[in-house]
Amino acid sequence: MALIGAHVSASGGVHRAVERASALGCEAMQFFTHNPLQWNGRAPSSLETESFRRALLASGVRKVTVHASYLINLAGDDHVRNTSVGAVKNEIELCCSLGVDSLVLHPGSSKGSPRRYALDRLVSALEHILSATEDKNVSILLETMAGQGDVLGSSFDELEYVLDALGWDRRLGVCADMCHMFGAGFDVRSEGGYLRTVLNLKKRFGLDRVGCWHLSDSKGTAGSGTDRHEHIGEGEIGVIPFGMLVSDERFADTPAILETPKEGIGDEGNLALLRKLRGSL
Ligand SMILES: [Zn+2]
Ligand SMILES: [Zn+2]
Repeated sequence: MALIGAHVSASGGVHRAVERASALGCEAMQFFTHNPLQWNGRAPSSLETESFRRALLASGVRKVTVHASYLINLAGDDHVRNTSVGAVKNEIELCCSLGVDSLVLHPGSSKGSPRRYALDRLVSALEHILSATEDKNVSILLETMAGQGDVLGSSFDELEYVLDALGWDRRLGVCADMCHMFGAGFDVRSEGGYLRTVLNLKKRFGLDRVGCWHLSDSKGTAGSGTDRHEHIGEGEIGVIPFGMLVSDERFADTPAILETPKEGIGDEGNLALLRKLRGSL
């Protein structure tokens, strides 16, 4: 029974994200600490941090993740990489001050350089970040990606390479994105497909390393490499793996965060569907 939740806006202050998640009846939530198309945002005041913590305690939200800025590329050229390292350290410090214990991060892009070279740059940047923030109890969850172009992390091989190179640091994990894994070729559409994919995650990383799931259906077909989100059950994937995941006891304490479009049935509709699917398959 995964913790069903949604990505919510923190506009108006971080505590507003908790209020929104709470109003939706979320058991878990994810938010951006600032506009994800900017490097850094205004740090919340101590009053806002306090309001966030209070609102969280009073809510039914049991787990929170922060999604890092989209600009971050730890495998990028020196300038981008240095800025990215600073941005990730800021995000970790912010998570720590808010009591959030995981940060979801895209592995980055090779931007045309050899993939192994880019992965090694990612490894050394993460090594620096982990040691600079070793007193912070915040995990970095590398997101599984759909596999467009130079984007790193669409194969479990690449993510395993990074985790292995960092000695399976206890603060490193994976965010399993259903839409992205489907795009990368994991055919999760059937019960067997879901079970095989989870077995794969278990063999490669161990399920305790899967710190978060991202849930959306896909406009693209299996293995198409496309990353286009759709409402649950309205895309190429269908409802089966989502129902199995939210009913799966192995992910009882794991956030399952909706990243479906906000228009149409919106978060309310998708959350209602997940609740209906939970325990019914
Ligand atoms: Zn993401
Ligand atoms: Zn996506």
